[in-house]
Amino acid sequence: MQEIFSHVLGRWVAPGPGAREIADAATGRVFARAGNDSLDFAAVLEFARARGGASLRAMTFHDRARMLKALALHLNANKQVLYDVSYATGATLSDHAFDIDGGIGTLFVYASKGRRELPDAHVLLDGGPEQLGRTGAFLGQHIYTPLRGAAVHINAFNFPVWGMLEKLAPSLLAGVPSIVKPATASCYVTEACVRLMTDSGLLPEGAVQLVAGGLGDTLNLLGSQDAVTFTGSAETALKLRATPNLIRNAVRFTAEQDSLNASILGPDAVPGTPEFDLFVKEAAREITVKAGQKCTAIRRIIAPEPLVAAVIEALSAILSKITVGDPRAEGVRMGALVSQEQKADVLAKAAIIATEAECVFGGQEGFAPIGENASGGAFVAPTLFLCADPDRATKVHETEAFGPVSTIMPYRDAGHAANLANRGKGSLVASIITHDTQFARDVTLEIASWHGRVYLNDRDSMAEATGHGAPMPHMVHGGPGRAGGGEEQGGIRGVKHFMQRTAVQGSPAMLTAIGGRWVPGATKTPGPAHPFTRRFGALAIGETLVTGPRTVTLDDIEHFASFTGDTFYAHMDEAAAARNPFFPGRVAHGYLLLSFAAGLFVEPKEGPVLANTGLDGLRFLKPVVPGDSIRVTLTVKEKTPRNADYGEVRWHVRLDNQDGEKIAEYELLTMVAV
Ligand code: NDP
Repeated sequence: MQEIFSHVLGRWVAPGPGAREIADAATGRVFARAGNDSLDFAAVLEFARARGGASLRAMTFHDRARMLKALALHLNANKQVLYDVSYATGATLSDHAFDIDGGIGTLFVYASKGRRELPDAHVLLDGGPEQLGRTGAFLGQHIYTPLRGAAVHINAFNFPVWGMLEKLAPSLLAGVPSIVKPATASCYVTEACVRLMTDSGLLPEGAVQLVAGGLGDTLNLLGSQDAVTFTGSAETALKLRATPNLIRNAVRFTAEQDSLNASILGPDAVPGTPEFDLFVKEAAREITVKAGQKCTAIRRIIAPEPLVAAVIEALSAILSKITVGDPRAEGVRMGALVSQEQKADVLAKAAIIATEAECVFGGQEGFAPIGENASGGAFVAPTLFLCADPDRATKVHETEAFGPVSTIMPYRDAGHAANLANRGKGSLVASIITHDTQFARDVTLEIASWHGRVYLNDRDSMAEATGHGAPMPHMVHGGPGRAGGGEEQGGIRGVKHFMQRTAVQGSPAMLTAIGGRWVPGATKTPGPAHPFTRRFGALAIGETLVTGPRTVTLDDIEHFASFTGDTFYAHMDEAAAARNPFFPGRVAHGYLLLSFAAGLFVEPKEGPVLANTGLDGLRFLKPVVPGDSIRVTLTVKEKTPRNADYGEVRWHVRLDNQDGEKIAEYELLTMVAV
């Protein structure tokens, strides 16, 4: 009997009192046990908060992003270990791609986004400063800092690797230590993954702990700096989120639960179109991948009434070619459900659906999965129902058979299709397969508020589309109502779920010191030399160059106009310019002013400034007329390391006229050698 360990307080702990047995999904053979009620959960939480939290918070976002990248590389190099143990969950080799490769891919995306979209700092700024006083001496800035507690991640059985990593990536990037509690039925895969991660030595002690089996009294020990993320059944979510201690301490609780996801076929997508084939292919894939045990799987197939028969025929043709059996056996395309309990649950739910719909494909009768010991496995045949009157039906819109089961229903028009999709009362994803942009728009606007994600696919996007059922780390995953009301991932949005947003108010100098980004009005310090001669590491936030003045003449304007071809009347025709409410008469081109500004502030000799990579937030605030003079103030606003060779410097650039009036303002981006 294999013992599945927990990893707590820096060591591996064997199963103990309260351990539960685990069976192989495809054979029914009990092969492992997990769980230990005697774990000291208060100590586990304290270890996370004090050890893991302190180490993670000492790192910058970029340090943590580099750690995620290294972890992803390590897991990727060793993923065969995870493949080998995953078969016992009933998953086929191609299912592993969703769980194991999908999880590693999520780490990679967060690692990359962390480096590109977050600062190399401990504080994340939310938006820009808000001027609260008359002169700008008192400002406000929203900031994010990591929660000081622990994140408790409770996962479902269907994604033992992805489920853990999609929650860990954002929480670790935020700087919050995590306690992972996988579903017992597949926790041996999670354990193998945590072993790889801890053995790599890449994680600080206490950053990730694993509890195999029950969580004991953990939820009663959480405080307001902790967070719970949950994936699983609505019933368990309700029970857990109602824990009085969580309510009392306003502990963040994110739930991702059962969902009656729909896929809608456009009326234009008749047989013979690429969209019809695409629709049927995606529906078949959602029914069979992971044996339908995907929170995003298509449970309701919504098709135009005249096309229903063709959809049933085409879908049945694909499903009839799916070989079901032990995922280790040759030629098997769909494996088993995770356990006999799940099989019984799915068959019971299918029986409920059958009270409102007729079975048009599949069913358990005469079904014979292949594999030597398959008779003990939790196999369910791909099954298709037709609900002819979905308006009167209720159960098909609220019963999630968490297996290879889907129900087809006819619709009359766009409004009716949307109405049926919304009868799921909140879901993770709805797809619309159509080449008709008007139909897509009509349906999307009607269903968006009921769905966490709307997936549109047609002949133009199908070669690159990521699939109805695949949550992408860049996009939010979660949905309203029945889907739990939670939101995960969504790129950096998911990181913020583990941080506190605080409105900080004070002087520009205070906000600069706290945010690490220079705020206009804060002290400007002259550097020891021209800033373009100084390397990335030497430049200080607030370091400023003020240039001498340059007078703009009519000749300059005419020269620029003929040289560039920009002879817009406001620069060339005194009377026409004067009729324009913005100008007193002929004015200098804005781009001429930018060019003169560069001429004033650059240091021409070869030096550490490597390239000008962009310009943000440009505003021309006051016209410049012939005879005016301009001067430039160039200030180091923010520095972001990019690699070992160079980093990005964001300069605040302000142009003033001879009267000290601001005529233009922008941010200049340069790459500067380290
Ligand atoms: P559960 O809701 O029973 O379990 C989900 C997780 O919660 C598991 O890790 C489970 O641990 C844990 N859990 C259960 N009770 C407690 C508790 N009192 N305190 C702390 N943790 C607890 O879902 P299952 O995984 O068993 O799946 C059951 C059904 O959930 C499926 O049939 C399906 O309908 C739905 N489901 C929905 C998913 C979705 O994302 N929409 C995903 C997976 C399932 P343990 O395993 O140790 O009991």
